[in-house]
Amino acid sequence: MIWPKQITNLIEVFSKFPQIGPKTAQRFVFWLLKKEKKDLEKFSQMIKDLTTIEVCQLCGNYTQGKICPICQDKTRDKSMLCLVSTPSELQTIEQTKKYSGLYFILGGLIDSLEDDKIKEIRINDLLKRLKQDKIKEIIFAFSPTIEGETTLLYLEDIIKKKFPKIKLSKLARGISLGTHLEYADEVTLGEAIKKREKIR
Ligand SMILES: [Zn+2]
Repeated sequence: MIWPKQITNLIEVFSKFPQIGPKTAQRFVFWLLKKEKKDLEKFSQMIKDLTTIEVCQLCGNYTQGKICPICQDKTRDKSMLCLVSTPSELQTIEQTKKYSGLYFILGGLIDSLEDDKIKEIRINDLLKRLKQDKIKEIIFAFSPTIEGETTLLYLEDIIKKKFPKIKLSKLARGISLGTHLEYADEVTLGEAIKKREKIR
C-alpha cells in the first residue's frame, strides 16, 4: 500500500458518498491533510455531533429532541399537511414563505407499484398521523417527475379510500417537468403552492 491505512480508510468512506468516486474521495482526504490539526479536530467533532440529531416523530424532519420546531409552532395551520419526499424539499418550500401548514416527509418516491421502495417510504406513519390529527387538506408537493406522479397516484388512491373527507391538492403547473423540487426557484414554487390544483 502506498499510503497509511488512516488515509486509505477515509478514502474508502468518502467514495461511498452519493455521486463521489474514488478519485474525488482521494482529493477530499488530501485536502483535509493540508488543514491544521485543530481544524481536523473541529471537523471530526462536527461529525460526532451529528449523533445527537434525531428524526421528528411527527413529520420526519431532522431535529434535536423528539418534535421539530415546525411541528411545535402553535402559529402554524394544523389543518394543512404538505407531503414532500425529502428534508431538502421541506427546506425549499419553507424558503418560499408561502406555506404555513405542517409537513410530512415520506422518505422517498416510488417509480412503479412493484417498486421495492414502497416498503421504505413512510406510508404507515402517514396513515397513523391522518387518523390522529385534524388534517383537512393534503398538498402533494412532489417533483414533476415520473416518480413524483407515480407516488402521487399511489397515495391518492389509498388516502381517498381511507379518509374520504380530506381535501387533496397538488402543486400548480409551472415548475418545468423533470425538475427536482429542491432545485426549483423560490418564486415559481411559491406560486405553485398558492395556486395549487384541487385533485378532489
Ligand atoms: Zn416535525
